[in-house]
Amino acid sequence: MNIGGESEASEPRKAVSRAALMTPEQRQNYYRTLRRAISLRDLAKRLLGDRITREGEGELLVDCPRHASQSGRSLRIDLHQGVWFCFGCEKGGDGL
Ligand SMILES: [Zn+2]
Repeated sequence: MNIGGESEASEPRKAVSRAALMTPEQRQNYYRTLRRAISLRDLAKRLLGDRITREGEGELLVDCPRHASQSGRSLRIDLHQGVWFCFGCEKGGDGL
């Protein structure tokens, strides 16, 4: 992904300082672009690897690392919408 002619992914500090200079609307568009560029499947595999208990086309079910899950699949990642939610922790978010 190339934004403004520079590689943002390889220079996260530069990307953050750039965001600080933006108007709220510019910042929103900027983060939207970043969210689209992030592959939640790749991110989950890198961060959660062996905790992924089920992998479907549109979703991943994960044994949440933040609480003691009995089912081992309480953390659900929706790959189409780019969001995740843990029913045990009652917390969710996106790739950022
Ligand atoms: Zn949890």
